[in-house]
Amino acid sequence: MQAPNWDNFIFGNGTISTCYLNASLGFPCEQGSIPIIGVDARSVKDVQAAVKFASTHNLRVVVKNTGHDYLGRSTARKSFLIWTHFMKNITFHGTFVPVGGPKSAEYNDVVTLEAGVQWGEAYPAVNARGRDIVGGISAGGSVGAAGGWVQGGGHSALAPKYGLGVDNVVQITVVIADGSALTVNEYQHSELFWALRGGGGGTFGVVTSVTYRTHPSTPLILAIFSAFINSTLPSGTTTASPILEDLFVELVRMTPAMSDGGWAGYTTVVPMPPTNQPSLQMGYIAPNVSWEKANSTMNPFFAFAEALAANSTFQTTGKLIILAAETSPINSFATLWNMSFANTTGQVGSQVEITSRLLPRSLIEDNPVKVAKTLLSVPFPSFYLVAGGAVADADPSSTGLNPAWRKALIHTITGVGWDEGSSAAEIMQQRDQLKQYTAILNNLAPHSGAYLNEATLYEPNPQYTFFGSHYERLKFIKEKYDSASLFVVASGVGSEDWDASLNCRV
Ligand SMILES: Cc1cc2nc3c(=O)[nH]c(=O)nc-3n(C[C@H](O)[C@H](O)[C@H](O)COP(=O)(O)OP(=O)(O)OC[C@H]3O[C@@H](n4cnc5c(N)ncnc54)[C@H](O)[C@@H]3O)c2cc1C
Repeated sequence: MQAPNWDNFIFGNGTISTCYLNASLGFPCEQGSIPIIGVDARSVKDVQAAVKFASTHNLRVVVKNTGHDYLGRSTARKSFLIWTHFMKNITFHGTFVPVGGPKSAEYNDVVTLEAGVQWGEAYPAVNARGRDIVGGISAGGSVGAAGGWVQGGGHSALAPKYGLGVDNVVQITVVIADGSALTVNEYQHSELFWALRGGGGGTFGVVTSVTYRTHPSTPLILAIFSAFINSTLPSGTTTASPILEDLFVELVRMTPAMSDGGWAGYTTVVPMPPTNQPSLQMGYIAPNVSWEKANSTMNPFFAFAEALAANSTFQTTGKLIILAAETSPINSFATLWNMSFANTTGQVGSQVEITSRLLPRSLIEDNPVKVAKTLLSVPFPSFYLVAGGAVADADPSSTGLNPAWRKALIHTITGVGWDEGSSAAEIMQQRDQLKQYTAILNNLAPHSGAYLNEATLYEPNPQYTFFGSHYERLKFIKEKYDSASLFVVASGVGSEDWDASLNCRV
């Protein structure tokens, strides 16, 4: 698993069974919370055989692609694994009519990605044809392009321009619980097609491929902002810095205008090495937007920050030190990808759990101060401008995705972490903290929801928070295609009918 804590199994008495990466900790290596056996599927037939075997023997199935899941849903103790990682085919179609659809439903320039393709493989293949595709961001492009990412929604810096991952899907192939391989789209099995776009991974069957729209490659403007607070205030804290609060309030206040200006991307409040002073890091893009328009919606924020920096003092508020505040034209998303992420590698996972909220545009417009102050009251918040624009324009009922996405502008995340080898008591303490942060975020946006792919297992009402008003329909479709609940994941559709281990019905 990318977050190795999901490999741990904690017994009721606090004993931990696992196999730590850091062998020098001296713990014996144990099975932990990983499958005992499984199938390294290389074809649709392999997946069908695996599903039939699991169904015949009533096994606890987990579907795993990259193992990036933040809720640990691609592993389980004593389970039977269906692993899709090596299903790597990428097929381009100059023209494409969804199976069963009329000729008038023809698409141009679509791409079919098999279940194991990762974004770091999909981007170069698509970009080489002069096209862009809406996809995820991670070091080396490690996130799966046709697994849990898209079934949960799939956000991207390109989403405000072209819609979320789910909005760009034209067809899916899937093996359902009885072992049949179905091709689903707007014209056949359309309700399953609806559910697979937002209803969550590991729930309706094993997806074997996803066919996506692509878009003509366009130039973009890149905005980079990086600043930290040099102060006598306690290091590593965010709340204690009034200057950071002023800066963050302004960023929140300007976010609707930035969104309308075509900007999208990622802001994080993180400790800055080596002194761990709080810092604000921002990387935004404006695809296919003129230089003048982009600068007119970004430069006011830079000007505000520069005035703050000039007026702040080390002793009283902390001195704002700006390391970068610039916009630059980039000729394509491919260029940006190659210079920023393509060659980043390494072990990126650690013992982390996160919680998140989708913040409605109306909340940000009406109360930017409250939003900023609340987010600075939780540790090192992420503030992702990945909604609005085309995400907001899509019909909320067109996919199974949580309708809260359509009203949101920001996806915000905070989290907890611990060292490998921590005791069960230390882990529980961190989880209790996480529950408190979840309550704080929920109080900020009580009628919104959260992105189920970057969330916590400790949501009090996951059905509402992750799926909103679509839950009943999703559950109906789940029962139709998987009446025996072969596919069940924590906090997923239908999971409330199972105990916490997901082995026994309640
Ligand atoms: C470093 C990092 C960066 C990220 N960046 C982004 C981002 O930019 N945008 C974004 O939206 N999210 C991002 N995420 C979150 C990401 O969407 C989730 O982690 C997602 O669950 C990953 O899906 P996966 O298939 O790669 O992972 P897995 O852990 O293998 O699977 C996730 C879930 O989907 C199920 N699943 C996987 N494959 C299939 C399949 N073929 N059929 C049925 N079920 C399947 C699994 O059972 C599990 O429930 C990021 C996560 C990490 C760790």
